[in-house]
Amino acid sequence: MAAYDFLIKGARLVDPIDPQRWMQGPVDIAVKAGRVAAVKAGIPIASAADVYHCHGETVFPGIIDSHVHMGSPPNAVGHKMLALAGVTTAVDFAGPMEETVEGARQSGAGLNVAGLHRISTDLNMPTTDPKTHEIRGEAERALDLGAIGLKVVGGHLPLTPEATARVREVANDLSCYFAFHVGTTATGSNIEGLREAVEIIGDGRAHIAHINAYCRGQKMSISEEVAQAVDILTHEAPHLVSEAYMGTVNGTFGACIDGVPKSAVTRTCLRMAGYPETEEGLVQAIRDGYCSANVPQGGQVVLKTGEEGVEGWRAAGAGAFVSFAVNSPEAAFLLATARRAGGDEFVVDAMSTDGGSIPRNVQLERGLALVQLGALSLSDLARKFSYNPALMFGFEGKGRVAEGFDADLTMADLETRRPVMTMVGGRVVMYRGLAVGSGATFLTTGRGAPALEKAGFATRVVDVTRGLIYTRGA
Ligand SMILES: [Zn+2]
Repeated sequence: MAAYDFLIKGARLVDPIDPQRWMQGPVDIAVKAGRVAAVKAGIPIASAADVYHCHGETVFPGIIDSHVHMGSPPNAVGHKMLALAGVTTAVDFAGPMEETVEGARQSGAGLNVAGLHRISTDLNMPTTDPKTHEIRGEAERALDLGAIGLKVVGGHLPLTPEATARVREVANDLSCYFAFHVGTTATGSNIEGLREAVEIIGDGRAHIAHINAYCRGQKMSISEEVAQAVDILTHEAPHLVSEAYMGTVNGTFGACIDGVPKSAVTRTCLRMAGYPETEEGLVQAIRDGYCSANVPQGGQVVLKTGEEGVEGWRAAGAGAFVSFAVNSPEAAFLLATARRAGGDEFVVDAMSTDGGSIPRNVQLERGLALVQLGALSLSDLARKFSYNPALMFGFEGKGRVAEGFDADLTMADLETRRPVMTMVGGRVVMYRGLAVGSGATFLTTGRGAPALEKAGFATRVVDVTRGLIYTRGA
């Protein structure tokens, strides 16, 4: 029997904490039983059952996308789209958890998946001001299903500031993850919402979703909003964890209730371009190309405008999703590169996509563009999209390609900025544009593991209280 299951010969390896590693030249990576067994030069070919010979490819620790939307079954195409984008681990930020589980069952592409359960008025809360026992009941149910925590989508479906604070308290009491798309009934998905979020959270524990989305120039100039966001995260709430994404389009609910878009973000996008905040306004915006319908096609989701877009939006009904090109590349750049004073640490911990089933899984491509520009080093990029997310969530054994770590890796071609191959737990799940994996391994809590195992999934128990969300500054 071979000593190793798989051997990668001659890889240029990027290490998040040793910036010199890539420059030191090619190295061999041996995999055994789902883990990295050795990283050194000169591992003999005869020692492995399978060998991949690199021709200049670079190996990153597997991309951990810290904010995705897998999509609702039967269109949970985020699994395949993320696999094709070089991602190995993804945290589903939409919920509800039963959809995350069912989507993985139907459409799993071999990735590691964790789920946050949405607490919102369109799903499970009776009013915008739910009480602690209502939130807690729903949270406990979600944890039993395998969720690692909760998410409030305040920008889309706001709760009162008091109820938002209760969700945070319940999540922290239950020692689970809490992510917040800022905005309440008193504010919105903007820089004021971010300021309010910091007050609501206080010294509590939270992950602030997609900082770039609050810097679209709604309240001040984009650069002023970025400067304020950086100041808030650096000085006022340095204990919070956060991520930002690089895509230029947003993704928001396209459904309407009584002729009005149900999401406040959708209504704001329409207003920003002078459209009425109504169903007619939304249809006109799709027709004009200002808004794109997210339409399933060929096992993925594509953006459509014009009559085709309107048709796709209609066909999706209550599950309609739409995108507006409202994200600022300036904000994306500044937030990807901003560092905390006097150190190497980033202000915004991670680079996410907020993608998956929303077609903007561009962190490898745009991250490498920032490397080409000299704005990030390869090592910085590996910290942004792998090492830091592992730390934030407490995903131990992930975030590096080193002996004893999980054999999760993303192999890329630096010239084309495309992923070449990915491996999850020692298994190849994507090779040159083909997603070849299936199923999913859930990262879950000890409490959620039994239900997921009963449903036929492999599980890995994680303790988010060991993640930066709980430990930073504590
Ligand atoms: Zn999102």
